[in-house]
Amino acid sequence: MQAELIFTGTELLLGEILNTHAQYLGRRLLALGIEVILHTTVGDNWERLAQVLRQSLQRADLIIITGGLGPTSDDLTKETVAGVLGLPMVVDEPTLRSLEEYAARRRVAVTEGVAKQACFPAGARILPNPVGTAPGALLEHQGKVLVLLPGPPGELKAMFEEAVVPYLSSLVGRGPVIYSRVIKVTGLGEVGVQQLIGDLEGEQASIAYLARPGEVHVRVSARAAGAEQARQVVGDLLGRVQERLGDYVFGFDDEVLEEVVGRLLAERGLTLALAESCTGGLIGARLTSVPGSSRYFLGSLVAYHNRVKEKVLGVPGELLQSCGAVSREVAVTMARGARLLAGADIGVGVTGIAGPEGGTPDKPVGLTYIALDVPEGSLAREFRFPGRREAVRQGAANAALNMVRLYLLRGFSG
Ligand code: ATP
Ligand code: MG
Repeated sequence: MQAELIFTGTELLLGEILNTHAQYLGRRLLALGIEVILHTTVGDNWERLAQVLRQSLQRADLIIITGGLGPTSDDLTKETVAGVLGLPMVVDEPTLRSLEEYAARRRVAVTEGVAKQACFPAGARILPNPVGTAPGALLEHQGKVLVLLPGPPGELKAMFEEAVVPYLSSLVGRGPVIYSRVIKVTGLGEVGVQQLIGDLEGEQASIAYLARPGEVHVRVSARAAGAEQARQVVGDLLGRVQERLGDYVFGFDDEVLEEVVGRLLAERGLTLALAESCTGGLIGARLTSVPGSSRYFLGSLVAYHNRVKEKVLGVPGELLQSCGAVSREVAVTMARGARLLAGADIGVGVTGIAGPEGGTPDKPVGLTYIALDVPEGSLAREFRFPGRREAVRQGAANAALNMVRLYLLRGFSG
């Protein structure tokens, strides 16, 4: 089943608000096995909406239109849909009564605008609004399905989950579906990942790559006659992708690296402490975003200035002078300082040049040293992260978490 989404609202075109419906509906429809083929955003202009809707009806089986169900004169979605489909607008008596009761409770009159919310294209199924006043509508028309949802995100989500998901699930059960899963990789770039797995892509399933700072997400998707078959095809390919990528794979779907590291630490009963310079507490923030992290995460010292590296972590002044703050030696001493200070099993030190200033030909922006200090010894790795300040910091945070992950999986190999 293929879907098109039409978002209405001039404020979307003006950039006043972000189109969060696109992300939410995209994800939810994919999870239901429905392929979204096109998005269109139109202003509060019925002629243009009518034009887009006519085109969408040519292409898609399912059309979802958001916004414009409210009481004001710029809310025109239902009227436009009725016009395009050639249906009259009719009053839904139960909806009108509930709007009248709502107005009476608030001691206000039922205006024409409010009454408009009780009118629907003839034959529409009315979708109750569990958190607002404007109901939505669902229409089956000449083999197509149209769903009209309200603009406010809370109302849209509640209505979609309660009324639309059960309907679409039963519909999808009867036709072809799309199914996909994500496998997440760190420590290897997008091109490197493709070199390892590119040849696995076949007719039955496709592979897509999404590069994030310090990570690559590989989406494996399949279209098949039924949900079971699609799952099977994706599962098979996912298994082969995982085998090829080995330890570069850190997780699946919604899993994040800090969660994976946390789980490994908890399983092994080990604790972690950090000394963060260029990441400024980013790694600590990510680790503590996972509930229950106090079991294994002891703390992070943001050792930004040399004085703090020296006075708190015990990095010798001479070392900072001779090697520079961004060096293998200082990273190792920071990691050891953090481990001893906190009494942790594992210490990590991160020092680098996030930019945009501060780079030299010897030590360019992006150069970062990350060290691990554990009872078996210590090791440091050099990285050169591309991109701007935030990308360098995120890249460094990922690499540090990944070093801890690999140590927990493979043991110490300094
Ligand atoms: P209302 O009864 O509030 O008028 P409505 O169904 O007529 O609801 P709109 O008037 O189109 O919907 O939008 C109401 C509000 O919902 C917008 O001001 C905006 O804040 C939010 N909204 C609408 N569309 C989107 C979208 N695509 N993404 C995020 N927010 C949205
Ligand atoms: Mg409105």
